[in-house]
Amino acid sequence: MKRVVIGGGGIAGLATAIKVKDLAPEGTEIVVLESGDRLGGNIRTERDDGFIVEWGPNGYLDNVPTTPALIDRIGLAGEVQPADARAAKRFLYRGGQLHELAASPLKFFGSSVLSWPGKLRILGEPFASAKPAGVDETVGAFAARRIGDEAAHVLVDAMVSGVFAGNVDKLSLASAFPKMAKMEAEHGSLFKAMMAAGKARKKARRDAEQLAAASGSVGGADAKGAAERAAAERNKGGGGPAGPGGTLTSFRNGLDTFILRLGEELGSSVQLRSPIQSIGWSETSDTWTVQVGTNGNRRELEADALVLTMPAVHTSPLLASLHGDLGRELSEIPTAPLAVVALAYDAEEIGGDPDGFGFLVPRGQGPRILGCLWDSSLFPGRAPRGKVLLRAMIGGAHDPCAVDLSDDGLLREVRRDLEVAMGLRAEPIRTWVFRHRLGIAQYDVGHAARLGRIHDALGAFPGLWLAGSSYYGVAMNACIENAGKQAEAIVQYLRQPSAARSVEVGERG
Ligand SMILES: Cc1cc2nc3c(=O)[nH]c(=O)nc-3n(C[C@H](O)[C@H](O)[C@H](O)COP(=O)(O)OP(=O)(O)OC[C@H]3O[C@@H](n4cnc5c(N)ncnc54)[C@H](O)[C@@H]3O)c2cc1C
Repeated sequence: MKRVVIGGGGIAGLATAIKVKDLAPEGTEIVVLESGDRLGGNIRTERDDGFIVEWGPNGYLDNVPTTPALIDRIGLAGEVQPADARAAKRFLYRGGQLHELAASPLKFFGSSVLSWPGKLRILGEPFASAKPAGVDETVGAFAARRIGDEAAHVLVDAMVSGVFAGNVDKLSLASAFPKMAKMEAEHGSLFKAMMAAGKARKKARRDAEQLAAASGSVGGADAKGAAERAAAERNKGGGGPAGPGGTLTSFRNGLDTFILRLGEELGSSVQLRSPIQSIGWSETSDTWTVQVGTNGNRRELEADALVLTMPAVHTSPLLASLHGDLGRELSEIPTAPLAVVALAYDAEEIGGDPDGFGFLVPRGQGPRILGCLWDSSLFPGRAPRGKVLLRAMIGGAHDPCAVDLSDDGLLREVRRDLEVAMGLRAEPIRTWVFRHRLGIAQYDVGHAARLGRIHDALGAFPGLWLAGSSYYGVAMNACIENAGKQAEAIVQYLRQPSAARSVEVGERG
């Protein structure tokens, strides 16, 4: 019997475990070792007096099919909650006020979010100079080259805060936003790439509608599916000035619904309070030994394949004793710590639920917060009737020490900024403070070269995989997509250990 041991019970570890379970030959044992006393890692939901409050992520975009497929697989499709239509309204704080980010190019040019020279410079995007050859360009340099300094340090800075809590002048475009790098490489211009994508979407919509009409005319079970596909194509956003494509989606009872169900599906494969302390490789038996547990409860497990999905800084000490350079490379992947501060209000005290998704704050505009999500507007049901729930993010790559402020200190900073940006003076009726000391991995310039070196070093250790948000994508979607690819490679390795492995450190989605 073969055994696959997975270290880390966050979304990456759980998605890998389910996929290995589905693909591996019968009798393969799967063990998920999680150091904490709960699954989910960054994904955690607090339910308090009728409030559903997320510690970290509040959802995934529904435009990457592997996530909905996993949700279907575990029977959770009925629990899914797409964001309310109000989520289409997104705001950005600049020059002392909130500006609505227009959803269409025409409205964008009528908006006041950028100066006229800033807006006109964007029109020059198709004529921007080409990327300097062989350079791992920062997101900021890329954006300034293509759409001008102002848009780079207002619009793109805010987007980077929203996804990475990162620094535009450090993050690598190719590693942090590979799709954008690909758009430029393939079309020579983001505008041209967006127009090509728009045409492809229209064609897909027409095809789906024709199929729906044809299925409808002959009746049968296919008709409903085809009509649903046509509706889905109509609803798909393509991304643009107001935000990324796809619909932000969560679960009616909070995001940890997903985690709890994944845990149930894995049953006794999951071992909580089981930190991996050290690992060893035996060349003679081609197996891994994994030392697990804390002082009173130490044990050893053998594994034919070992997948480490915890953040790279936690993986680093496990590998340092086997390969010093590998341990050092992993320890040098930076992260941006941040805190989430949630505040509940009486709706009538603040004029009801704010109308929209929330707002982001580019650096240098005054407020310390990175932005604020209007959770009970986004996902009705997150607050009891007559109450409003907001969540602000503070910290990140520009302000890593914010996470060390006391709860009162964080609340003071957040309340001051909400007053400045939203005019919110009312006293909150409840507050919650959640700290993410490791925060979000930062794919700074040099990340791709580092992954290349990690990949080469892993070549000496058959049966070992690294996965999770430290490597090829911080979003839940990326973690799930990579988990699927790695599970396939792991199962292939179990069947034929001598076969060359193609995926050792995740894979770009
Ligand atoms: C505040 C915040 C907001 C975010 N918002 C979004 C969002 O809206 N949408 C989105 O898609 N993404 C979002 N993200 C990113 C996303 O949440 C993460 O990238 C993703 O959850 C990471 O999953 P993971 O499994 O790679 O790692 P983690 O969630 O970090 O899980 C790793 C697990 O490994 C365990 N572990 C550590 N060391 C050991 C050990 N030695 N032995 C055993 N177990 C160990 C940990 O306890 C943990 O449970 C957000 C992140 C943060 C911090």
